[in-house]
Amino acid sequence: VELTQACLSEIEKADALGAFVHKTPELAMDMAKAADANKAGGDLNGIPLGIKDLFCTKGVPSQAASGILEGFKPEYESTVTTQLFADGAVMLGKLNMDEFAMGSSNETSVYGNAVNPWKRGNDDAQLTPGGSSGGSATAVAADLCLGATGTDTGGSIRQPAAFTGITGIKPTYGRVSRWGVVAFASSLDQAGPMTKDVRDSAIMLKAMSGHDPKDSTSADLAVPDFEAALTGDIRGKTIGIPKEYRMDGMPEEISKLWEDGTTMLKDAGAVIKDISLPHTQYALPAYYVIAPAEASSNLARYDGVRFGHRATLDAGDGITEMYEKTRAEGFGNEVKRRVMIGTYVLSAGFYDAYYNRARKVRALIKRDFENVFADGVDAILTPATPSSAFELGAMKDADPVQMYLNDVFTVTTNLAGLPGIAVPAGLDKNGLPLGLQLIGRPWEEGDLLNTAYALE
Ligand code: GLN
Repeated sequence: VELTQACLSEIEKADALGAFVHKTPELAMDMAKAADANKAGGDLNGIPLGIKDLFCTKGVPSQAASGILEGFKPEYESTVTTQLFADGAVMLGKLNMDEFAMGSSNETSVYGNAVNPWKRGNDDAQLTPGGSSGGSATAVAADLCLGATGTDTGGSIRQPAAFTGITGIKPTYGRVSRWGVVAFASSLDQAGPMTKDVRDSAIMLKAMSGHDPKDSTSADLAVPDFEAALTGDIRGKTIGIPKEYRMDGMPEEISKLWEDGTTMLKDAGAVIKDISLPHTQYALPAYYVIAPAEASSNLARYDGVRFGHRATLDAGDGITEMYEKTRAEGFGNEVKRRVMIGTYVLSAGFYDAYYNRARKVRALIKRDFENVFADGVDAILTPATPSSAFELGAMKDADPVQMYLNDVFTVTTNLAGLPGIAVPAGLDKNGLPLGLQLIGRPWEEGDLLNTAYALE
């Protein structure tokens, strides 16, 4: 109860950060009291968390930060939140994000953006917390909660974690149930924790993971005790440094961060190995074909009938006008762009040239990783993002591809289904946090968390 009260009072003071889009203080206090009374609670008993607005929470607005889900209160609870609450976690409210998780700056949210609590030197400029899990990152970094759920389709846990100096892990595809999480690109989406440090991520990931018969892609595998894996001992582990991630024009401080991280792992007893992932350069274009294709299909369900918003119709309007007006009003520009790209690449005349080709590229990217793992690599170290947090509004008039470039280091793991973690690794020259990414073998999140622990 005390912890929950403390968080609630911090949240009240932090409205300007725009992290929470829907607060649930009464529910939180009830859950906190129940946790205090429960002597048999799990590891998260009484721990106050924020929940990304992409998760369906029963009776509590769940809008995926979209106008089209205005007024939607699910009749069901997502598997992830069900498991967290069963463990004793307390929900403080719903967190801001990019609309339908499409974006890298939290600026596509119907609620307006969240604000990064970090400042650039003495500059007053407001910075993005990253996206799409921008509210989650802001809330954890600003001490409004002890941890938050995020989702990651192409980097949406790891990039905001890196921009705000926190830790976030995208687990292996299938580790965490997607049931009750609003779908963006179903073959890429995974939920994961965003926390202060690696240990908290290990604890929270354990509670979120596990087989769920309601998600046919969820893996029927035992969930290891990820926290027990944190020995700090990485002696003899092989860490791969992929040459293709050394992008042209990489800022000096990012290459230095990467080198410093490499040295740290080497000093801790790891074997450092130069590796090649030859198809890396095709990952971003393949992602921006596959993700919109799946999104255009997933978003077809917002028809003005089943969920949320319906446009006011004029006399004589039929069902087509209802769809058109509802979708025109309800979706923001980035979502419309993705739906258009998606329907285009899936259309009969272009399917082979774009969608099928992207699928083939995806298989090659996956094979690149399989090859290096077969060669004895245990984890791969890369920067998490190509820069530190940028100014809000900076990309307003830019080509949308500029924004997509934020994801160059993160989309590969989603395409390959692999676990990836971002950990804070230092500050740039303006005092802003920078993150490193570690990519692990499938289903070996414990090992990955332990390597990240050695970097911490
Ligand atoms: N920034 C990427 C996109 O806009 C990734 C988003 C995500 O991981 N949900 O698609």
